[in-house]
Amino acid sequence: MSSTVPIPLPVPSRNEPRILFITPEVFPLCKTGGLGDVSASLPAALRALRMDVRLLIPGYPQVLTGLKPKRKVAVFEHLKYFPPCVLRAAKLPVNDSSSIPVFIIDCPELYSREGGPYQDPAGQDWPDNAWRFGLLGKIGAILGSDASPLKWQPHIVHCNDWQSGLTPAYLHFHPGRKAASVMTIHNLAFQGNFPPENVARLGLPASSYDMHGIEFHGRMSFLKAGLYYAEHITTVSPNYAREIQSEPLGFGLQGLLSARREQLTGIINGIDETLWNPARDPYIVSHYSHTDLSAKAINKRVLQETMALALDDTVPLFAAISRITHQKGFDLLQQVAPQLVKIPVQLVILGSGNAEMEKSLTALAQAYPGKIAVHIGYTEALSHLIEAGADCFLMPSRFEPCGLNQMYSQQYGTLPLVHATGGLVDTVVDCTPATLNDGSATGFVFHLMTAEQLLATIRRAVELFKDTATWRTLQQNGMAKDFSWRISAAAYRRIYRMLA
Ligand code: ADP
Repeated sequence: MSSTVPIPLPVPSRNEPRILFITPEVFPLCKTGGLGDVSASLPAALRALRMDVRLLIPGYPQVLTGLKPKRKVAVFEHLKYFPPCVLRAAKLPVNDSSSIPVFIIDCPELYSREGGPYQDPAGQDWPDNAWRFGLLGKIGAILGSDASPLKWQPHIVHCNDWQSGLTPAYLHFHPGRKAASVMTIHNLAFQGNFPPENVARLGLPASSYDMHGIEFHGRMSFLKAGLYYAEHITTVSPNYAREIQSEPLGFGLQGLLSARREQLTGIINGIDETLWNPARDPYIVSHYSHTDLSAKAINKRVLQETMALALDDTVPLFAAISRITHQKGFDLLQQVAPQLVKIPVQLVILGSGNAEMEKSLTALAQAYPGKIAVHIGYTEALSHLIEAGADCFLMPSRFEPCGLNQMYSQQYGTLPLVHATGGLVDTVVDCTPATLNDGSATGFVFHLMTAEQLLATIRRAVELFKDTATWRTLQQNGMAKDFSWRISAAAYRRIYRMLA
């Protein structure tokens, strides 16, 4: 493995298109899932390719306090349909010597509040999300057009998920000069659908509320707006790009996506190897690499101690780190639990999400102390220790556009056990005699989303764990794989160049 981002980042080239990367979350300021990781690491990888990429994000409290200083670069006092706001410029550190320029929309009326980016502290969607993210789309479109008050003008606006889906629509209806837009789907299940009255309230023409436009089953859809009006669509793995062109994973948008398949590209996410590398991970004490895995056992022991599991290095330790939801297959995990506790394994789960599922997982841990441990919450440090300390990583996702943890796991010598869906198919190679023989095997894959198949595959992993030499081979196969952004960032660059 080598670092994705050279230190320091090179000066951007004038010959490359300039990119405005519009996102509702960015690690480490604000992250609810993979989009937060991608929003930090893809721009850094593009900067390493000498592209001038700048971020646009809402000014949540954690963004305004996390980035300093924040120069005022524009004031939008009389923006029709939206409260007044200020645009501030700051820099997001990438490493000790480099950073990426960020534009922050400072609009206290919409963003200055306790809670998450999309939901209040009780887990309810903010009632004014259409305005919170309508403003993000609007400012994105202004900065991407000749209406921009800034000297810096992008050739491309790169929108991410429904929260920035209105940018391509606003740009489409802008009469003057404008940037081309790319819409990336990180998860098609989240669409940002709102009552149709919002079309007028957000300043979009009535004609846009059409089947050939932003109408979606009697609602206005932010995501469909992006998918319909953007010049190009990408999603985060080639296999997911195929899956979303038909039911059920098209979530009602399969017709549009299959009609636009010539402008739809699947590009697998990379991982940030400056953050996720067992040889220098700052969150773990004992570092290791694919040439010497011995210290992984120390991390396993620390993990067992931390999570109050029995201190036993012979038992296979399974792990999951995730949003606890139906999408991620936690119901299946619960179903197999009564059988799982009868076989010699340990299980550690880190996550939060569905309250009912959280409760039953916690009850499971209480019923089987020393064998099952559950931590409800979001903890970056613990997630790194789990990747380093576990033997096998469970991802029984119903669907998974790309998935990051199966890649982190392979880099950490933790064998992924996954359902054959989305990006998991593109990144994990099932262990079979053939794949063992050709050196490609990196984990375990099951094809039917049933408790029986999940359990059978866990049993298969437990059996293989006894064969330490073969297990070690799989670990080393995974650790030797290149999951860096290098190839994927170049694929985005090809699309930008084509559009610019
Ligand atoms: P999604 O975006 O669907 O949630 P991904 O696998 O693409 O799934 O990305 C999830 C990211 O969030 C990973 O980096 C994962 O480690 C992290 N993550 C999820 N839940 C937690 C948690 N409870 N604590 C720490 N990190 C978490």
